[in-house]
Amino acid sequence: MNKWAYASMTWKEVNDAVQARRVILIPLAAIEQHGPHLPIDTDNLIAGHYCDEAAKRRPDLLVSTPCIEYGYNEHNMDFPGTISIRPETLLHYYFDVGESFARQGFDRILYVNAHGGNAQIANLAARMVVTHTPAVAAAINSWELAKEAMVRLRESHSPGGMSHACEYETSVYLHVRPDLVKRNEVVDEYPLGRVDGWHWIDMLDGAPLQFTDIYSRNTRTGVEGAPSLASQEKGREFAETAIRGLIQLAEGFRSMVVHPRKDFRVKQSGGRDSAS
Ligand SMILES: [Zn+2]
Repeated sequence: MNKWAYASMTWKEVNDAVQARRVILIPLAAIEQHGPHLPIDTDNLIAGHYCDEAAKRRPDLLVSTPCIEYGYNEHNMDFPGTISIRPETLLHYYFDVGESFARQGFDRILYVNAHGGNAQIANLAARMVVTHTPAVAAAINSWELAKEAMVRLRESHSPGGMSHACEYETSVYLHVRPDLVKRNEVVDEYPLGRVDGWHWIDMLDGAPLQFTDIYSRNTRTGVEGAPSLASQEKGREFAETAIRGLIQLAEGFRSMVVHPRKDFRVKQSGGRDSAS
């Protein structure tokens, strides 16, 4: 039986996983305030749950690897609990992990990110793995995997009801670890758009203006959204949709044809410019 968790494999089992062309899942998260009602590991719980469950169900296709638990969080440092890693450090870290999997022989690497502040960095790291190694890597935000169910079950106002410690994140936490959610501390707080017509805040509806303000300037509780509308049932549906989506995505990613590079330039040069 294939093991689903990378960390529990022996080196011989890693070789078998390479030969079976299993897709590497790297969960990316953050230790960050999530309002008065959710633990600071919320993004870890979500990214880890989606990757672990998907790999448990399809160990022939997937390997779930240890979560990169800290993220880029400078905008949230005014709240207790938050830990922030500099973006340049994180970019190198994400890349080094992805590149190491490529050097082990894996050829499909997926970063599965549960923290908004990591999104651009994950995307860049994946691009660097593509340009620096023979493997291909890509990044997806974990809420994008659950999008169909989020649109279907959403009760909160849009934009604003689903952003941070919100209807979505609180529901998933209630589904996985209800004992750790402080239901009597739940408060709703809708984030303000900061530039009319150009900026608003919502997981399902990205604004054209890219602007992340310091959280403490605009919130009293650290919440952005409507956790009062969260439920265990919604959380189960969000998680199940995301896990099914991740499996389907990985199937397509593994079977994707990757053509050899070709150098169209007149002058050839060596190093990483060589099309081999
Ligand atoms: Zn979160």
